[in-house]
Amino acid sequence: MNYLYGASYSPLVFPESAWESDLRLMKEAGMNLVRTGDVHGSWDRVELQEGNYQLDTFIRFYEMAAQFDQQVIFTTGASCPPLWLQRKHPDVVILSNLGQQYPMAASYHWACIHHPAFLEASDRYLRNALLPMALAQPNHFGWQITNEIGFPFMPTQQNAEIELYCYCEHCQAKFREWVQQKYGTLTAVSDAWMWGTTAFWYNEWDDIEAPRAKPSAWSGVTRWLDWRLFWQWAFANFARRQHDLIKQQDSPHPTSVNMFNFKGFDRFGTFTGLDQWQIAQNVDHIGYDLYPGSGNKLASRPEHNSIFLDHGRSVSQSAGTDFWLHEMESGPIGGWLMGPDYNTGPVDIWRNGFEALGHDVKLLLYQPWREWDYQPLHWGALVDLDGNETPRLKAAAGLGQFIRNHDAFLQTARVPRGEVAILESKANAIFLRGVNQEEDLFAAQRGAYRALWELDYRVDFITPAQVINGTIDDYKVVLLPLMGLIDAETAVSLSNFVNNGGLLVGFARCGTLDHQGWSHHQLPISGLREAFGLVRVEADSPPVPPIRWNGRSYPGYKNRDLVEAMAETAVLATFEDGNPAITLAKYGTGHGLYIATQADSGYLQTEGGLLKTLMADLLPQLGIKPGVTISYTDKNIREIDPHLLVTPSRSMILLANYHQQDVTARVAVKGNGRSPHAIVAGILEEEPVRWDQQDDTILIDITLPQEEPMAITIDWHDTP
Ligand SMILES: [Zn+2]
Repeated sequence: MNYLYGASYSPLVFPESAWESDLRLMKEAGMNLVRTGDVHGSWDRVELQEGNYQLDTFIRFYEMAAQFDQQVIFTTGASCPPLWLQRKHPDVVILSNLGQQYPMAASYHWACIHHPAFLEASDRYLRNALLPMALAQPNHFGWQITNEIGFPFMPTQQNAEIELYCYCEHCQAKFREWVQQKYGTLTAVSDAWMWGTTAFWYNEWDDIEAPRAKPSAWSGVTRWLDWRLFWQWAFANFARRQHDLIKQQDSPHPTSVNMFNFKGFDRFGTFTGLDQWQIAQNVDHIGYDLYPGSGNKLASRPEHNSIFLDHGRSVSQSAGTDFWLHEMESGPIGGWLMGPDYNTGPVDIWRNGFEALGHDVKLLLYQPWREWDYQPLHWGALVDLDGNETPRLKAAAGLGQFIRNHDAFLQTARVPRGEVAILESKANAIFLRGVNQEEDLFAAQRGAYRALWELDYRVDFITPAQVINGTIDDYKVVLLPLMGLIDAETAVSLSNFVNNGGLLVGFARCGTLDHQGWSHHQLPISGLREAFGLVRVEADSPPVPPIRWNGRSYPGYKNRDLVEAMAETAVLATFEDGNPAITLAKYGTGHGLYIATQADSGYLQTEGGLLKTLMADLLPQLGIKPGVTISYTDKNIREIDPHLLVTPSRSMILLANYHQQDVTARVAVKGNGRSPHAIVAGILEEEPVRWDQQDDTILIDITLPQEEPMAITIDWHDTP
């Protein structure tokens, strides 16, 4: 098998006379995989009337794709059912908290995944139409389950929030079942859902209803948490349903789900019902859809590609599966007549491709191959509207050549675990969204990531489940950006991590609430108390005074905690009013660092960069160093971004280059007791480079033209 590389193509949309030329160009670009049957006319173009399947076009497409050595990944179509289903069952459309049906002919995912008619129709479509069709094709590769699973991520009204779904009777019944499973008795639910003046006592299971408002509208916290956790479970469960159906008839071919994270309108999947970690457990592989140009994200968030791909890579690693990119931006993108948001060009194709390869992506597909003239929203494309080559296709063909040159290595190499992990919890994110503080959490995660990323550390994401099951012990540092909700078991596991030698970094308001969003009585809670070496923590009101540290003043940000340190805990810095601001405790063989303000989000919002400066000072003192570092004149934020891929005998460093000038740089790589026998660098043509070894560090000098990527390959002598 070869590394999987290709593009999305809609044979139902483009004339059959164009297929041959398109497929030939794909093959010439080093591609071997086409994704089809996505949102552009799949189920609704196949099952024209109930039970009347028209699959000839797809069969002819499979056959022609085979002539050009292209395999096909097919989607299950469940994101956009045909209109006859809605005509026959008018209540199959998802229902909002305000009692409004999702507007038809707007976005996909309008049908309710708990409606029996939808389930019956989508099961039958998959079982009777798609599976027999695909199984008869020798070049069938595998499956994409639905498309960008979850509720619609676009608001139905200009500038509004996206709506809450789904409140239909089937979903209410399913929720009731889920609640009954979770709590067992009505007394337990009534206790758990207690809330201020708007609490109810539930005397019948039929009394259980989904909340129609967020806690910020004076509605119960625990009930809100349950409602959105239910949806994250429900969509993961739907993925499992389609996966199981496929496997009954087609066990050899892999299933997958394409999704995203950090999206505008819904950063952490609270409204859309998206828990990437759970979904990854239910299918063979997961993929993300990468669009840095949409909304021109890199202009305001230069770390976007890295944090997005590190998140997806971490989710895949947690499930022990491969990380795929079902969609990667292929040309000018975003905006209607006044667009594009970003004029994606050949440089971006190379750079985004290197980002993908460098973050362990094992299947890489552009979206789309060709644009649709009926949808005059800029959305990329490698060829023009007439199917002619563009400079972007040339770049994609170059990347294709690079992939083929290193095919076996890229398939087997892995990104080693990060030195640093960021803890994220869906419950914490759901709570903060419920009280209108989702952007605070987003800023906190970004700030924590960015500070460490800029220092060349490799950052992974982990969940409370991984804290408890011991995966956390693979890391040297764990950060807890705006982790307001921490349950008792996680807190104790975090203290074990410290006891066993880890460094735990907490920020203001850490572990204030329990698993159901209620107040912990004594702060810090057991576990965090020992780990951080703090006697007492109390929330204070703004303004936050500046912090004096190492002879400089740094602004506090947003929140502050008044903390009382244990006698043996070091106070590294104080606020200007004398209260401890940064404390460092030794616990077991590890350390707990507490920063009593929001230095996580504050890293991006205030001058001075306290978090980065502090980490740059402290981590090397504790012997925690990045595996690969890069240095060049006037390095600011990691404009040149190195990514390490390893096999036992070879390492490759893929440099994604955002620097606007030619640069001479020095890359330092840990040898881990080995020395290189050859080092080469380049893109399509590689040449030996100058290098030196100092102790266990390999130093490599390279010159990088503006925005040009580079790969450095190190072949190691056998381990002594
Ligand atoms: Zn529903």
